Amino acid sequence: MDSAHDRTALSVLQTIYGYDGFRGDQAAIIDTVIGGDDALVLMPTGGGKSLCYQVPSLVRRGFGVVVSPLIALMQDQVDALRALDLDAAFINSSLTHNEIRDTEARLRRGDIDLLYVAPERLLMPDMLALLDDCADAGNIALFAIDEAHCVSQWGHDFRKEYMGLSILAERFPEVPRIALTATADERTREEIATNLGLTEAARFISGFDRPNIRYAIGEPDNAREAMYAFLKENHPGSAGIVYCLSRRKVEQTAEWLCKQGCDAVPYHAGLDAATRELHQRRFLREDGLIVVATIAFGMGIDKPDVRFVCHLNLPKSVEAYYQETGRAGRDGQPADAWMAYGLQDVINLRSMMSQSEADEQHKRVEHQKLESMLGLAELTTCRRQALLSYFGESGAAACGNCDNCLNPPDTWDATIDAQKALSCVGRTGQRFGVNYLVDVLRGAGSERIQRFGHDELAVFGLGKERSANEWRHLYRQLIAKGLLAVDVDGHGSVVLTEQARPVLRGEVELQLRHLRKGNGKSRDSSRRSKAPVAAEDRPLFEALRGLRKQLSDAAGVPAYVVFNDATLADMVAIKPENSDQMRMVSGVGEAKLERYGEEFIAAIQAYTEEQA
Ligand code: ADP
Ligand code: ZN
Repeated sequence: MDSAHDRTALSVLQTIYGYDGFRGDQAAIIDTVIGGDDALVLMPTGGGKSLCYQVPSLVRRGFGVVVSPLIALMQDQVDALRALDLDAAFINSSLTHNEIRDTEARLRRGDIDLLYVAPERLLMPDMLALLDDCADAGNIALFAIDEAHCVSQWGHDFRKEYMGLSILAERFPEVPRIALTATADERTREEIATNLGLTEAARFISGFDRPNIRYAIGEPDNAREAMYAFLKENHPGSAGIVYCLSRRKVEQTAEWLCKQGCDAVPYHAGLDAATRELHQRRFLREDGLIVVATIAFGMGIDKPDVRFVCHLNLPKSVEAYYQETGRAGRDGQPADAWMAYGLQDVINLRSMMSQSEADEQHKRVEHQKLESMLGLAELTTCRRQALLSYFGESGAAACGNCDNCLNPPDTWDATIDAQKALSCVGRTGQRFGVNYLVDVLRGAGSERIQRFGHDELAVFGLGKERSANEWRHLYRQLIAKGLLAVDVDGHGSVVLTEQARPVLRGEVELQLRHLRKGNGKSRDSSRRSKAPVAAEDRPLFEALRGLRKQLSDAAGVPAYVVFNDATLADMVAIKPENSDQMRMVSGVGEAKLERYGEEFIAAIQAYTEEQA
């Protein structure tokens, strides 16, 4: 790009990126950095952090240096900028010596708008010397420190190379710095400011809400089947992630989904590096692959068009749930966070925690986190409200875009049944697991029950009128609510807690949620998750997706580098007939108009003629 001192941030946004206006704090952040001041930015995934450093890099003189730990993604980030006709480059260990020399020469010539580097590379003496020269010539627009929480030892992604970045402040005092992260708790935030020398920086803290994500949590009898039905109805052919707890379950689920005709691949730490890399790469490039994974999958998955994240197990904490589901819908288009869990999840997690080697205080924290997650799962009111208030944003209204808002669960007075279930625990000596207790309640004629003489108890057969499944559901809720605890011996026996007493004594009433068969599948099928385009326009959307795939395959770039889903959806709504109309589509800037405009206009025209 040639010298650009007369460019304004807004004109860059409109002509290069093809967007109408800035979102949220973007304008204020960009103004701050363009003005030469430092900024500390906390924005949820999908909030639009990249523009916060890209736009100032283009408006200010010289190039922007983007420090990122995610070497594997640098190529895609650079490809996305090149698709906008920007001069972007990266320097990392995947390049040859000559390639690096070549990029360094381009930097000296001022032929680069944005440079991506890993922190360890940035801190090498040669690199710093080069940057000194560029800075002396006034040619460094800014330093952007992405994934800034990596500098925090309290956070979970600590990278020691990040600590070295504090020298930027001393060595390049004239160059504004902007640190960005989506991880946000107070303590991490302070550590970022201190460790990067940004205590004086302007702070921009956006809310946590991800309004385009629809949350749904349920306890279907068969989680896999329920998930498949949900995906078939709402996300045929879309890209998504399915999280499972164990490697074995990952493998089985991926295989099963393939048998159902889905395009699914496994990902977990037990696979060899080449396979993992291949699967991650396919996921990033293609627009319809399902990755079934353990939590090993996700760090730095910057794919904007992930349409769903499913959990087939309960995550350990609300933070983990929020981070994992947050990988859906970065492009702002409707996306689903769908979770199924069961009694076994609760028991497994509880006993895993009590057996953990961690010290007592740590265990207590882990326990509290699990309790909060269970609380969210068992909630009968707006999930988003609860999520936001967990992160300290209270006072939000009910969202209208979660399962509980869309399809309020029925509650029932479970006091009597809970008394039966609890006294069954007490009468059998607090030594048995849920399945045994259910057998006693239903009066099953098992040899074991007779051996213990439990067929003589008053509670034996007291719960015949309910199915085993209903009892298990009730026990799960009692455990989740803390009236029962899972024993530390790890055999899954349940014991009464203090909180059970008032219920047993009939002093309090217990309102519980009715067992819901599926989740996400509302009774009213018109409340399907909002598709990005109207049903009658679906064939056009699919046709444009096909064209996008052709073009991205030919260019060897991810599909979204051509156009993202939001742009295709806007195109379908506008149905442009010429370049001027095409310019109105969000996400179509000058470079992409020239590169792809005609072909997409032709495809739309062909479709409209066929319809007529
Ligand atoms: P983050 O890094 O915060 O997760 P990104 O920078 O990847 O988010 O932005 C998410 C998506 O939103 C991208 O597809 C991006 O192009 C789009 N986007 C960002 N800012 C705007 C805007 N002002 N108008 C329209 N789309 C935007
Ligand atoms: Zn809600």
